[in-house]
Amino acid sequence: MYKHHSALGLVSALRPVQPVTLLRPHAATRAARFFAEKFPGKSLYAVKSNPSPDLLQVLWNAGVTHYDVASLGEVRLVAQTLPEATLCFMHPVKAEEAIAEAYFTYGVKTFSLDTIEELEKIMRATRGATDLNLLVRLRVSSDHSKLSLASKFGADPAEVKPLLQAVRQAADALGICFHVGSQAMSPNAYGEAMERVRAAIVEAAVTVDIVDVGGGFPSWYPGMEPPALESYFEVIHNAFEALPISYSAELWCEPGRALCAEYASVLVRVEKRRGNELYINDGAYGALFDAAHIGWRYPVKLVREQASDVRDMAFSFYGPTCDDLDHMTGPFMLPGDVQPGDYIEVGMLGAYGCAMRTGFNGFGVEDRVIVDDEPMASLYTGATERPAASNVITL
Ligand SMILES: *Cc1c(COP(=O)(O)O)cnc(C)c1O
Repeated sequence: MYKHHSALGLVSALRPVQPVTLLRPHAATRAARFFAEKFPGKSLYAVKSNPSPDLLQVLWNAGVTHYDVASLGEVRLVAQTLPEATLCFMHPVKAEEAIAEAYFTYGVKTFSLDTIEELEKIMRATRGATDLNLLVRLRVSSDHSKLSLASKFGADPAEVKPLLQAVRQAADALGICFHVGSQAMSPNAYGEAMERVRAAIVEAAVTVDIVDVGGGFPSWYPGMEPPALESYFEVIHNAFEALPISYSAELWCEPGRALCAEYASVLVRVEKRRGNELYINDGAYGALFDAAHIGWRYPVKLVREQASDVRDMAFSFYGPTCDDLDHMTGPFMLPGDVQPGDYIEVGMLGAYGCAMRTGFNGFGVEDRVIVDDEPMASLYTGATERPAASNVITL
């Protein structure tokens, strides 16, 4: 893979015609070390947020040994890339064949579930295995999060007691897990979910060996500036310590976004300008799915040898495909003199951006280059230093 110092160095040297993904392994390493040092338990990387093998290797090298996988495809990918990794199959609705292959071929012993039917499926598929870690997924509120995960999965309060008691009989280790929704903007999301965990344990009167607080740890985006991650860890730690569980119980989390958002940005070229609309060469079917479909905002920076002294104005983007839906409202703040041929770096795309590229309409070719400058924002470099870019605005 090529290396450059920064997006500007790359533009000056190559003037790339295709969008280029800029990778920052040092930023992913920093995030992984932060979780390893400061989260008061074990961190499983949620692979769906960015499954690229080079990132998996970076995280492994930084000490991440456990991986939250949700499909057989992810099981195979991680097993192939990191043969020593421990895999945890944390999708509560799995194909029986997938469970069997995960258990017998890949040695996966940790599964989540939210119904008795799924428990029966797991026991059938593993032929009554007695060495399983089984985690019951509770339904919790997504009220504090930007992306809800509250409606699809999770046992209802009324079903939790019999389910926990049944799983206790079948499992070697019994766990409880939940997901507060992605980009949780307040530590209280975890505090409130832990109250549900407490109530469930008390009601079912079972011994719980694992409490897994899931993902949802935030990153930094324009208009979404979260409190320091330490404050999340503190709320979780205090709530965990107060639970009526055994002395040896383990605390787990499953960060996706927080471990990889800073890992990648995308360098795009402006092909046309129409007023305050910029036609760029990546979009809704590329790394900007969330920008198009849920109006997610990302920081942007004009990458030009001679910096512009024109004031910033608000732009929207059109992506390269022939589809009206390929539109990103933004607003993206860029100097008023942006013109065709200019390059723009779109930051913080390491989570759920790069993972969702398609080849629709013949676009989606991805060149990847390693850079060693800092991401446009960071939750890991100290609260006061972020972000440097003047074009990052907070609404
Ligand atoms: C998506 C997902 C995660 C990661 O969520 P983030 O918000 O990216 O941290 C973790 N666990 C499960 C079960 C998930 O579905």
